[in-house]
Amino acid sequence: MSRPSKIVCVGRNYAAHVRELGNPLPERPLLFLKPPSALIGPGQAILLPAASSRVEHEAEIAVVVGRRIRNVSLQEAESAIGGFACANDVTARDLQATDGQWTRAKGFDTFCPVGPAASADWRTLEVRCRVNGVERQAGRSAEMIFPIPALLSYISGIMTLEPGDLILTGTPAGTSALTDGDLVEVEIPGVGLLSNPVRRAETR
Ligand code: MG
Repeated sequence: MSRPSKIVCVGRNYAAHVRELGNPLPERPLLFLKPPSALIGPGQAILLPAASSRVEHEAEIAVVVGRRIRNVSLQEAESAIGGFACANDVTARDLQATDGQWTRAKGFDTFCPVGPAASADWRTLEVRCRVNGVERQAGRSAEMIFPIPALLSYISGIMTLEPGDLILTGTPAGTSALTDGDLVEVEIPGVGLLSNPVRRAETR
């Protein structure tokens, strides 16, 4: 996978996860960006920064954009889906609360494990997360508040999406803290398995 021009993420897209964090249901997709510098691949280590005392996994279905789209209809958005990838929207939950916006909490190096990617039907995707072999999260694309074509159409009305751009479509309930030595796995049956060890980052 070549480096995307941007990684657009959707917050609060599964009702059960919205409730577990005590947030109101969104009226429209809640968007934020992760920097492409946060990307790592399968097998690479997630590094826990010293600045945070609570880093959590967020297993997500990532859409790989297949062609350039700008301000497109639902139908055009659906036809621009290039594939899907396993993704982990790693989040420093404590910094997300204290900073007031999410760039630092979501943007540390290694905070965006992604891969592998494959074609699939957006209607029937499932995503699961295991930490040290214990299942923590399970969700289905059918449970999303805003379905995948609606997300692409909405985002394309704000920013041009380029081939290879990634859309992280939100996480189901069950996010939990990661610690040094953990192994976190995100699986999308029919797409693949993303496995990453967790380590403390070297301090300066
Ligand atoms: Mg997320």
